[in-house]
Amino acid sequence: MTAPDRRIWIDGSLVPWEQATVHVLSHSLQRGSLIFDYMSVHETPRGAGVFRLGDHVDRFLRSAELVGLPLAYDKAEIMDAVVEAVRANPGAKAVKVNGYLASIEVDVVPMDERVTLAIAAYDPLEDVIRRNPGEYERRPALRLWIEKARRQRRPDIVPAQAKVAANYTSPMAAKWEARRNGFDEILLVDDAGFVAEGPTTNVFWVDEAGTLRTPPEDNVLLGITRMAVIEIAKHEGIPFEESKIRAEELMEQPEVFLTGTTAGVWPVVSIDEAPVGAGEMGPLAQRLRTRFLAASSGEDPAFHHWLTFVDED
Ligand code: PMP
Repeated sequence: MTAPDRRIWIDGSLVPWEQATVHVLSHSLQRGSLIFDYMSVHETPRGAGVFRLGDHVDRFLRSAELVGLPLAYDKAEIMDAVVEAVRANPGAKAVKVNGYLASIEVDVVPMDERVTLAIAAYDPLEDVIRRNPGEYERRPALRLWIEKARRQRRPDIVPAQAKVAANYTSPMAAKWEARRNGFDEILLVDDAGFVAEGPTTNVFWVDEAGTLRTPPEDNVLLGITRMAVIEIAKHEGIPFEESKIRAEELMEQPEVFLTGTTAGVWPVVSIDEAPVGAGEMGPLAQRLRTRFLAASSGEDPAFHHWLTFVDED
């Protein structure tokens, strides 16, 4: 199945893809108040499995709380709805759960407080990328730029832990500029000048002593891939610590990689045009990438509990 045959779960109904629309004056479009979460779906010998569904729904509920959107659904109801959406859309590779104010409003605070829940289970490559104009290139290894001009992660504005549409406009502007300058991806810095994260990824590095490190939780989105990579590292006995780092220090680390639902474990080969390590994927990134791929696709028995199988009750 591909778009436009797909159906999107909206407040309990399965709505055809082309009809899943909102008004141009809806609050969430005008004010950026949509909250969302995005997770992967894998074909396994036990059928389609959603990766870390409960953790994604927890994060979605946290986003609602941080932004103040009064959701009418609890965790179990949202999890059930995701399962229903995946079942209704064979071949889906990802799920996007959205909460938004569909009403037309004049003020920043809506008069109509009803939050619509919409769950799309689809294949980003077939249903979106191939149907859009323009070139899309995803490189196996990244040329990274560290944003200097804008301090993108400020907990006093909207906390980085909230996946709310408005949080992505500033990273978009920074990444667009970096793209025009020939870089693949950017890293954002916080108000004290420490490296925070990418627009849709977390960052890790391996220091000279072989310790795996990532910035602490206070100023980054709590990535589910970040969480999984930390658990895999602990499982494998790899030393791990959360720590802060400045841009110029990051460049000197033997290995740097990004993590995310779409990115998986994504090696960085250069930062601001200087090579990282040997200028190719490092051994620890390779090891974690292999184990993460196996775990997320249901091939690693130690991590079977990370998948929710939609065809099993
Ligand atoms: N940081 C931000 C700001 C993101 O939007 C994402 C993507 N959800 C991530 C990190 C990575 O999170 P995850 O591993 O859950 O995809």
